[in-house]
Amino acid sequence: MEQNDRSVLKVRNLRTGFATPAGTVIAVDDVSFDLKRNEVLAIIGESGSGKTVTALSLIKLISTPPGRYFGGSIEIEGTDILKLNEREMESVRGKTIGMIFQNPRASLDPSFTIEFQLVETLMRHNRQLDRQAALEAARKALLEVGFPDTARVLASYPHQLSGGMCQRIGLAMVLACDPKLLIADEPTTALDVGVQAKILLLLKKRSRETGLPIIIITHDIGVVRAVATRVLVMYGGHVQEEGDVDEVLASPKHPYTQALIRSIPDPDAEQDAMTFIKGEPPNLLAPPRGCRFAPRCEHAVRICHEKVPAWREVGDRWVRCHLAETGVPQ
Ligand code: SF4
Repeated sequence: MEQNDRSVLKVRNLRTGFATPAGTVIAVDDVSFDLKRNEVLAIIGESGSGKTVTALSLIKLISTPPGRYFGGSIEIEGTDILKLNEREMESVRGKTIGMIFQNPRASLDPSFTIEFQLVETLMRHNRQLDRQAALEAARKALLEVGFPDTARVLASYPHQLSGGMCQRIGLAMVLACDPKLLIADEPTTALDVGVQAKILLLLKKRSRETGLPIIIITHDIGVVRAVATRVLVMYGGHVQEEGDVDEVLASPKHPYTQALIRSIPDPDAEQDAMTFIKGEPPNLLAPPRGCRFAPRCEHAVRICHEKVPAWREVGDRWVRCHLAETGVPQ
């Protein structure tokens, strides 16, 4: 986590969770990070690590029961959005923060043409635009995401288009509103490899050319390598490691990051060398008393089972591990 006043986004000690019949689950626990212009931050971790709840928390979609914010702050360009009411948040979503979801059709309404949806969205977020100007902006946005035949796409209904096309339209819709921050939650998981590469390239290009800061939620290290400049590793609701993407992937300091990287299948290996992380993720209704990774960690010592490691800067990155200074063998 960098302490920098040029940050577009500052998240501090964020805690969000859910009330369940069995008790309260804190799905995002004491999460802090910054994001500056031109940065693409990948948040990675297994299912249930807290990465998607972190993304939803950033656009304040956890505020209705059973979801709840238990503490912390989310500052976007100096405004703590946790202090805004729902009406104020409606103008933040889309205009200040754009969001792309895993389901390519999630942001599209099946009963309206793409033209109607793009034009309405653009006019809602920019009241200066008349219908003709909004249509022009929609055409431009479609060209930007790789549709040369904009007339055909504009006249289509979502069910007439493939999942990959819908995802690119969703991206066009978000980018045309010119957000200050873009959050993409597993944006390419449901797409084939060719479309996936196209979407990732678009995101990277936009960030490089306009400085748009992007958060991409993924469980795919290939996506991280392709697009991110920084990476934040989550496990059991805690951030476990954060740093420059090349440095973290080349020399992970946290045993969980090491295990995650080892679990990627090696296509060149003669035998099936895929290593799974043994054991199960923690039950967040009753998380382990000490380090959340301790029951699965091959390096765990006594203190790991007794005390939650502090989140602290160690050399070129931030790590939550009792052995971070001494180093754990990889
Ligand atoms: Fe493993 Fe202990 Fe580090 Fe947790 S604190 S990751 S159990 S070595």
